[in-house]
Amino acid sequence: MLFNLLKSLQSLLFPPICHLCKEFIFDSGEVKLCAGCLAMAPPLISPFCTCCGQPFAGAGTDHLCSHCIIEPPPFSAARSALLFESSTKEMIHQFKYSKKVILRRPLGLLAASHLADFSERFKADLILPVPLHVKRLRERGFNQAVLIGEILSKKWGITLSRNNLRRTRWTEPQVNLGAAERAANVKGAFAVSSGEEISGKRIFLVDDVYTTGSTAKECSRILMKAGAAEVAVLTVARGLG
Ligand SMILES: [Zn+2]
Ligand SMILES: [Zn+2]
Repeated sequence: MLFNLLKSLQSLLFPPICHLCKEFIFDSGEVKLCAGCLAMAPPLISPFCTCCGQPFAGAGTDHLCSHCIIEPPPFSAARSALLFESSTKEMIHQFKYSKKVILRRPLGLLAASHLADFSERFKADLILPVPLHVKRLRERGFNQAVLIGEILSKKWGITLSRNNLRRTRWTEPQVNLGAAERAANVKGAFAVSSGEEISGKRIFLVDDVYTTGSTAKECSRILMKAGAAEVAVLTVARGLG
């Protein structure tokens, strides 16, 4: 009672500010985004590919996309919480490139809430973040996938394995490459340190954005080779493709 009263008094005297636009917010909840910024972070909703999660334009039911029919990926499913546009794009950009690490909170919490049902059904044993090369890690100072993974781990009570999956080879940034070039670029760039931790486990592979899926596929391939029972890829955001 007293605690709640103090809490309300505190938010009245020091109202929290939106993590993105810095407007004061009075009833922000845990995510701490104003209503305007939150409305501009639309969730990724049906219809989408039941395997890779690729959203389809217009109305209809979920079904397999042609890519997953022709060449099934090594993961059993990929799901993203938000569409990679507007507020979401801005937050991810500021988080990664302007090092606004505080933005891991709204991004991670929105992912935890939008992907909660999927997590409940999948029942993962372990969360593994997509690793950065040590050179990139030094440049940036943090791995965004680890910071998102920490929030998912805490919210869902699933163990986070920070360093088991490693990037063993430097790869050029994927941004300016086409799909085939991206796949070639990351081929053989990952390794598992402890196969014992992976063997027989149901794994959530976590990253910030799913683009062509070449990184997610290569990491999943390595994890399946190390004996994982099943891999599902979770990302905060995904473009319409
Ligand atoms: Zn805002
Ligand atoms: Zn698909």
